[in-house]
Formats: sequence, C-alpha cells, structure tokens
Amino acid sequence: MKNTYDVIILGAGPAGLKCAEELKNTKLSVLLIEKNQIIGPKICAGGLTQLTKGFDYPKDKTIIFNKLEIFLGNKKYEISMNNPIRTLDRYELGQYMFTKIKNTKNITILKKTLVKSMEKNKIKTSRGTFHFKYLVGADGAASIVRKYLGLENKIYIGIQYIIPKQYKKMKWFFNPKTLYSGYGWVFPHKTYTSAGVFFNPKFLKVNKAREILDKFLDDCGVDYKKAQYEGAPANCLYKGIKFDNIFLAGDAAGLTSAATGEGISFALTSGKEVAKKIINPNHKTIELDKIVKIKQKGDNRLEFLDRFPLFQSILLRIYVNLLKSSKFQSWL
Ligand SMILES: Cc1cc2nc3c(=O)[nH]c(=O)nc-3n(C[C@H](O)[C@H](O)[C@H](O)COP(=O)(O)OP(=O)(O)OC[C@H]3O[C@@H](n4cnc5c(N)ncnc54)[C@H](O)[C@@H]3O)c2cc1C
Repeated sequence: MKNTYDVIILGAGPAGLKCAEELKNTKLSVLLIEKNQIIGPKICAGGLTQLTKGFDYPKDKTIIFNKLEIFLGNKKYEISMNNPIRTLDRYELGQYMFTKIKNTKNITILKKTLVKSMEKNKIKTSRGTFHFKYLVGADGAASIVRKYLGLENKIYIGIQYIIPKQYKKMKWFFNPKTLYSGYGWVFPHKTYTSAGVFFNPKFLKVNKAREILDKFLDDCGVDYKKAQYEGAPANCLYKGIKFDNIFLAGDAAGLTSAATGEGISFALTSGKEVAKKIINPNHKTIELDKIVKIKQKGDNRLEFLDRFPLFQSILLRIYVNLLKSSKFQSWL
C-alpha cells in the first residue's frame, strides 16, 4: 500500500463520504480513513429536512412526516408541513453512500484505522504514517484536524433514547423555562424511535436535560424503560472550510445548526463543495454560502433568545402559531 496520496479524507460520515463520492473517477488519488469497522452508525436522530432535497439517499428507507406535533409548555399544536421531514437510520445512510465509492479505482478505503495525530502534510494512524497534498478533516465534532488548526469550538450536546418500538407521530417540544433555547424530539424510525434533546451545555447540565426529557416522555406516554441511552457533542462554530491545503467539512467545520441540531445536510453540502474546491481551486462555493447563511441566521436568532429568556416563550408561541400558515412556511 502506498503512503502518499493527493487527498486524504479523515472520517467516513456523510461529509467524508460525500467528499469521496465527488472525487470518484478523477485523476486524484484518494485515501479515506475511518476508525470504525462499520460505516454509518452515529449517535443521531436521523431527521432530514428540505436542505437534503438535492441529495441522493435511500428514500425507500425513510419515513415521511407531513404533520408535526409541537409542544410548547403545556400546549400542543398540530402543524401540517408544506415540506415534509423524513427520518433515516444512519447505518442505512452510511451504507448507501459507502456503496457508491467502494471498488473505485482512485479511492483507497481504510476502515478500523484511527488517526492519532497530524503534522504538516502527514498524519499518523494506527496503520502507519500517510502523506497528503490535501487533507480533508471530516472527522466530526471532536475533529483532530480542527484541533491541529487551532480553531475554537462552540459545543452543543444531543442526548437521546433509542426506543425499540415504533411510535407513529413526530413530536417536537420546547420549554424555555427549563430547556432554554434547546428543544426535544420524538422521531419515529422504521424499527425504533429516537427521543432526545439538543441543548446548550452553558445553560443546562446533561443530567438535568435527561430529567426534562424523561418528564416529557412520561407525560406523553412514550415508554423509554427498555431504551438505550446515549449522547454526543455537536460543533456549531463555523470558521470556514479552507485553510491552505487543509479543508474541513461537516461537524469538523462547525457546521451543525445550533438552532435545530441539524447537521447531515450541512455535512453533505460541505463535503461536496470541499471536493469541488480541490478539483478546481477557483470553484465558487455558492451552495455552501447559501446554507451557511441559513445556519448563521438560525444561530444568531438563538443567541438573541438566549440573552432574553423571558421573550423566548412569547416569541416561540408567535412562531409556532405562524407556522400553522402554509404561506409563512413557504416564506421561511
Ligand atoms: C443526539 C444527536 C442527534 C442528532 N440528530 C440529527 C438529526 O436528526 N438530523 C441531522 O441532520 N443532524 C443531526 N445531528 C447532527 C449530525 O449527527 C451531525 O451533524 C453529522 O453526523 C455530521 O456529519 P459528519 O460527517 O460531519 O461527522 P460524523 O457523522 O460525526 O462522521 C465523522 C466520522 O469520522 C470518524 N472519525 C472521527 N475521528 C476519527 C479519527 N481520529 N480517526 C479515524 N476516523 C475518525 C468517525 O468514526 C465518523 O465516522 C444530531 C447530533 C446528535 C449528537
């Protein structure tokens, strides 16, 4: 096996896999490194919004929700969505994306390989040292590459139960008095249900967030006694994707929305744009700029709400009532 590649992609999540797919059948030699043996699984609720619309994923493995139940304090709102939300298991997404790049001539894939450290133009892994012309850090919220670049982080936390039962309705819940600007969800999948909360750890401790989640689930009759409990960080501080010959994509680039916890669409878009930029350094990252704007608008709104918690309940109530209007949804 050679030890020098044009492009080394670190991490086979949606960002790394999408980047590899875009580099498929180019003249560039690509090495994709993943620490896990199985591609796909990740602590995630697997919700897909309209931002994933232009991407190919296994639609037959998704569940489509045209209606949402939103709980705000003690009040319940039923919202019909102009644009449905889907859920997709991360194993299914990862495997689907992986199938598109495996057995590709210019892409070498190393699974079960941990990247331990990096230096200028080389990385050290559990299977030796590799040199690169370009490096793509697609290694998630605790990115080694981002750390090497010395960038700050803004970490949010997501905790969830994986309940071995399929509930039927998609639920979102907000409670600014207890969850601050965080929110909770119940996302049914084909064979299980993810129920969790996404929150800013500056305002809430993990144990408290879990208590709030438990109470919500108790109140709406969701049984989580046999569920698996898990949690993971998400990085929400975007600082760019290009740093000389090193690129960042997805969570490593801080591309998770602090407002919604959504990160899959951002990972796919940034992975694709990074690849295009490597192929053509003059490529204008218009698609990325668009979604970064969307993310930053949401994050700024959240920062405002965090500063004025009293306003949050009032504004959320107005917002949810407006959401009932399909015209407002279209504008949004
Ligand atoms: C509880 C929770 C719920 C969420 N729910 C949603 C949701 O419903 N919808 C949504 O859009 N987003 C959601 N997200 C966010 C979403 O999971 C992430 O934004 C998304 O996975 C980012 O993709 P990525 O490819 O950038 O990183 P990841 O999916 O984290 O992939 C990174 C890959 O790099 C590998 N890796 C990391 N370090 C190394 C190393 N040193 N050596 C080798 N390999 C390494 C990892 O094993 C992993 O496979 C949620 C997040 C959390 C925590």
